[in-house]
Amino acid sequence: MKRAIYPGSFDPLTLGHIDMIERSSKIVDELVIGVLHNSAKNSLFSLDERVSMIEEMTKSIPNVTVGSFDGLLVDYMKEIDATIIIRGLRAVTDFEYELQIAQTNHVENPDVETVFLTTNLQYSYLSSTIVKEFASYGGDISKFVPSRFVDRIYAKYNISK
Ligand code: ADP
Repeated sequence: MKRAIYPGSFDPLTLGHIDMIERSSKIVDELVIGVLHNSAKNSLFSLDERVSMIEEMTKSIPNVTVGSFDGLLVDYMKEIDATIIIRGLRAVTDFEYELQIAQTNHVENPDVETVFLTTNLQYSYLSSTIVKEFASYGGDISKFVPSRFVDRIYAKYNISK
C-alpha cells in the first residue's frame, strides 16, 4: 500500500492545489494532505481553518485525508507511515529549492521518495501568495480559488463584495 503526503501551507487552498490533489490521488493508494503549522510564519488562515477548508473540498475523494504537522516532514511521515512526498513544479524557479528539499529528505530517510507533478498549464502562474496579494487590493480572485472561499478570503482583509 502506497501512502503519500502532499505537504504545504495551503494559505489558502487554491484551484492549483486542488488540481494537484485530484491528480495525485489517482496515482497512490492513499493521500494525506499535510498542512504545515508554522508558528513563525504569519498565516492568513489559522491551522484549523486551513484544515477544514481542505476537508470541505476533498470529502468526495475517498482515498484523501487531511492532517497537520509541525517540525520535520520526515518525522511526520514516520508517524503516519507514508513514504512518498508529492510536490508541484510550476516553473524553473521552483526547481532549485524543491531539489534541495527532496535530496535532504532522502538523506534524512532513504525510504522517502519525492514525486513531482508538473503544474496544469492553466494554473502555472497561481500561488497562495498571488491570491493574497490580489485579495488584499480587492482584486477578482474567483478564478483562483473555489467559489465558496472567495468571501472568506476577502473578509480577512475586511473587504465585502
Ligand atoms: P509551500 O509553502 O510548502 O510551498 P504551498 O501551499 O505554497 O506550500 O504549496 C504546496 C505545494 O503545492 C507545493 O509543492 C507547490 O509547488 C504546489 N503548488 C502550489 N501552487 C500550485 C499550482 N498552481 N500548481 C501546481 N502545484 C502547485
